[in-house]
Amino acid sequence: MLIVGASLFFALTSNMPFLRAVLAGRNWSEPQTWLFSGAMLALLLALHMLLLGVLLVRPLTRVLLGLLIVVTAFATYYMQRFGVFLDPTMLRNVVKTDPAEAAELFGWGVLPHLFLFAGLPLLLLSRLRLRPVTLRRALATRLLLLAGSAVLLLAALLLIFQDFSALMRNQKELRYLITPANYLYSLGRVLADDGRALGTARQAVGADARLDASWASRDKPVLFIVAVGETARSANWGLSDYARQTTPRLAELDVLNFPDVTACGTNTETSLPCMFSAIGRRDYNETRIRTSESLLHVLNRAGFQVLWRDNQSGCKGVCDGLPQQLSDAALTPDLCSDGRCLDETLLRGLDTVTRDAKGNLVVALHMLGNHGPAYHKRYPDGFRRFIPTCDTGELRKCNREEIINAYDNALSYTDEVLAKTVDFLRAQQSRYDTALLYVSDHGESLGEKGLYLHGVPYAIAPDEQTKVPMVWWFSRGFLDSLGLDRSCLAAQTAKAWSHDNLFHSVLGLLRIETKDYAAELDISGACRRLGQAGQKDRATQDALASSLGSQS
Ligand SMILES: [Zn+2]
Repeated sequence: MLIVGASLFFALTSNMPFLRAVLAGRNWSEPQTWLFSGAMLALLLALHMLLLGVLLVRPLTRVLLGLLIVVTAFATYYMQRFGVFLDPTMLRNVVKTDPAEAAELFGWGVLPHLFLFAGLPLLLLSRLRLRPVTLRRALATRLLLLAGSAVLLLAALLLIFQDFSALMRNQKELRYLITPANYLYSLGRVLADDGRALGTARQAVGADARLDASWASRDKPVLFIVAVGETARSANWGLSDYARQTTPRLAELDVLNFPDVTACGTNTETSLPCMFSAIGRRDYNETRIRTSESLLHVLNRAGFQVLWRDNQSGCKGVCDGLPQQLSDAALTPDLCSDGRCLDETLLRGLDTVTRDAKGNLVVALHMLGNHGPAYHKRYPDGFRRFIPTCDTGELRKCNREEIINAYDNALSYTDEVLAKTVDFLRAQQSRYDTALLYVSDHGESLGEKGLYLHGVPYAIAPDEQTKVPMVWWFSRGFLDSLGLDRSCLAAQTAKAWSHDNLFHSVLGLLRIETKDYAAELDISGACRRLGQAGQKDRATQDALASSLGSQS
């Protein structure tokens, strides 16, 4: 009885987003709609009876069901508030979250919802008395329940099969709205995948990687900074024709801006491993990506020192076994509060790193960027340029204008940090040939189509979540010594690119040879002057420049 009651409770109270989605656009004056929604409810009920029928064994019933009720109440709150789908990718985010991130997502607004959907049911649950029965009888009733649930499930399915199967084929993601089945299933998947990945050694990528012949004749080592942005979306990027100038500092620098870049995922856990992999989205295989070496391992093998500096939630495996520095409030107290630091912390002490480095160096900066929902915490007071701002993580308390203002302020702070990175790289030019590559991991919804934050399943994700800014900056010495044609590179910015191009473009820019390099995915592929780069090339170029100079 408890299982039936609890399943009914979940079917009726926890599946509003699912029911709304499957019933969208239907006409309530048609009997078919009533049949369909009735069958849907029966389906939800039967599914959860099956699930609970397997899960709840008598000694654990109260604890497990209590836990399910509380977690489900949280889940439905965030699903309704932000349009979240609890698929395996989202569950991975939840499992891998840290206290600072969780605290920012928590708002007091959740309390009334919790009281209603967890508090009251828990009270009821605590007053229930479970009558002991013999094992034989318990087994018999349980089997009967499971069989009955299965029959109900099948009957409901058959009744609306054509309609339902078409719906599920076209909008597979909808099943991740069925609560609490969605997170139970997804959690199982994540644990199973992690278990399988555990103990398998990372597959080597670019095992033959080495610097090409042009490197023999250069006079300075290379310093290459990869800045991985967070939650910056292309739509609000000043350099990419946004009505507001959110990138005033970069606009004054000699940067290459790529306005059409597609992210590999809609969340950090997916995008980061994917963008640093040779595999990418075109041949997507999450397990293969997670168990293969990343671009950083290839660079390291080719002879670069690699350092990962993190102001966020870690490198998600892409820097495993390589040196890492995590932002530390004790080291830069002026930039940190509430367990979070402003992104300038990533630049502190970078001069010590470059001074102590030997030879070629790649530094990855993992920014906190526009990590929501507390956008207002992502920038110092001086960057409150667009007002009024939303000054709480509880976005529903703000109107869209305030949310967008806070988001844009955070973006203009990213602009500042990137410009300061370029300043830093300029100052290093006497010792290094320097370059910066910035790209965001995914975008963000700011209320468009009723969605907030990010993490919508990739197949149905809106452009706001998948289109990201990318910016390149090169020192003269970097371009010359690596034989790169800047005007050719500038011409490439007009084309559409994606995270899939990152791996191969970095190898191409740095002239690293390996069989895993795919020239057709290298953005700079057409822009490399063939033959010897370095001194000789520079000499002919200087001669050419001076002869041209005399004409103009
Ligand atoms: Zn992210």
